[in-house]
Amino acid sequence: MWNRKLRFILLIVLLMSGFLFISLVSYYTANESIRTQIAKSTLPLTSDNIYSEIQRDLLRPIFISSMMAKDTFVRDWVINGEEDGTAIVKYLNEVQLHYGTVTSFFVSDKTRHYYHSTGILKPVSVLDKQDDWYFRVQKMTSDYEINVDVDTANRMSFTIFINYRVYDYDGSYIGAIGVGLAVNAVQKLIENYKNRYNREIYFIDKNGEIVLSGVVNNTHINIHQNPGLSEFLPQILDTTTNSIEYEEDGQKHYLNSRFVPEFDWYLIVAQKENEAEQRIENTLILNLSVSFVISLILVAFVHLIISGYQRKLETMATTDKLTGCANRQIFDALFKQAHAQSKRTQTSLSALMLDIDYFKKINDTYGHPTGDVVLKTLVQDVKSNIRESDIIFRWGGEEFLILLPESGKDEAYKTAEIVRKSIENLIITFAGKSISVTISIGVKTMLTDDTQETLFEDADKALYLAKKKGRNRTEVYHDSAK
Ligand code: GH3
Ligand code: MG
Ligand code: MG
Repeated sequence: MWNRKLRFILLIVLLMSGFLFISLVSYYTANESIRTQIAKSTLPLTSDNIYSEIQRDLLRPIFISSMMAKDTFVRDWVINGEEDGTAIVKYLNEVQLHYGTVTSFFVSDKTRHYYHSTGILKPVSVLDKQDDWYFRVQKMTSDYEINVDVDTANRMSFTIFINYRVYDYDGSYIGAIGVGLAVNAVQKLIENYKNRYNREIYFIDKNGEIVLSGVVNNTHINIHQNPGLSEFLPQILDTTTNSIEYEEDGQKHYLNSRFVPEFDWYLIVAQKENEAEQRIENTLILNLSVSFVISLILVAFVHLIISGYQRKLETMATTDKLTGCANRQIFDALFKQAHAQSKRTQTSLSALMLDIDYFKKINDTYGHPTGDVVLKTLVQDVKSNIRESDIIFRWGGEEFLILLPESGKDEAYKTAEIVRKSIENLIITFAGKSISVTISIGVKTMLTDDTQETLFEDADKALYLAKKKGRNRTEVYHDSAK
């Protein structure tokens, strides 16, 4: 019994672990592919797109500034002594109007005058920190620089200045010219990506300060203040591109960083663990539940089939195949039951030992298969003459034992005689032949000191006596027969 239970438990465990293994493998594979997709493709692509937008945004002002630096009017005007200030202001104003820039400017190296679209500003000075940019441009070897100046009053508005060096016709440096542009497009793009794909997009400088983001109220002004992310800051600042995974508020975040040399900033694109991953988790739970139910159904099904077979095997082990009688294996259990019952009800228990007379002859004359038919038919006939509660056992080849509960010597003898006479009158027809047989019966009624063994031994003795006395008769066991 326990063995069977254990086997069932083992079956359930095996099934469940199989399902669990498959579910987990597919869960991790799907999860990993989403993770890789986000880290290796989605975020870098967003980063690429934003970066190329920035470059596109920058190309135009660079081109305009380059045209201004090569403009013969500007150069002639400076060479001729910067006489008419209104002329250059008018020129700068035209540029600003035509190209829709935020500002346009020219700083003369000779006079240090800062001209812009609405007039002359105060002269630039080495002493003024705000004018540092000019002296940097004055010394630089490249033709232009891109300078991003964030408005300190409003850190979300910032201007890109293109500072172009201007030369006279001999190649001597005479000033710096250029335009300033608002980076609306970049900001719009950031907002767009944020709204459409739920991605965080912002720029940080080399100190980890957030210098530009799509939203005005950014919760983290410095990513040092972000507990999950701050530890990765050195890594972000160390290499030009990075893929990072970090935890914030118990949620997984993916982050891609890229150094933008034009600004000297890092572009950060971040994304929370997304719905797809959530869906995969739900699928896992569903898979496991379905697997569990299927396992249970399967096990219940197997249990049903096996117990069916078990019952069949049990009946096969306790009944005789040819006649359908109980066999000797089950005698022990059934005798005990009947014996206990007779004691309880204080009734007698008797047994008939029955043997076919000259059965060898039947076999010899008609053949073994006919003998079998005789056995079968005989049992049917016997059964029709005994009660439901009487049990017939096939004791040997053509020898039967009948247990008769609640039967004393007289009732047992009566029953034996009914059975015997019925067989005597029975004509068995098979394969066109009519066969008659007779039987001899020994009767034994249990006494208090009798046992299972003495019961059938004594019945056998009475049967022997019946055979001896000429067969086709019933003999009751008496002590004298011992
Ligand atoms: P007796 O009156 O003394 O009992 O004579 P008998 O010929 O019946 O002698 P015995 O009981 O010794 O013979 C039993 C025979 O029954 C021998 C055996 O071949 C035959 N027999 C036993 N089992 C089967 C069976 O399952 N089918 C058939 N056809 N014959 C069987
Ligand atoms: Mg016989
Ligand atoms: Mg016999």
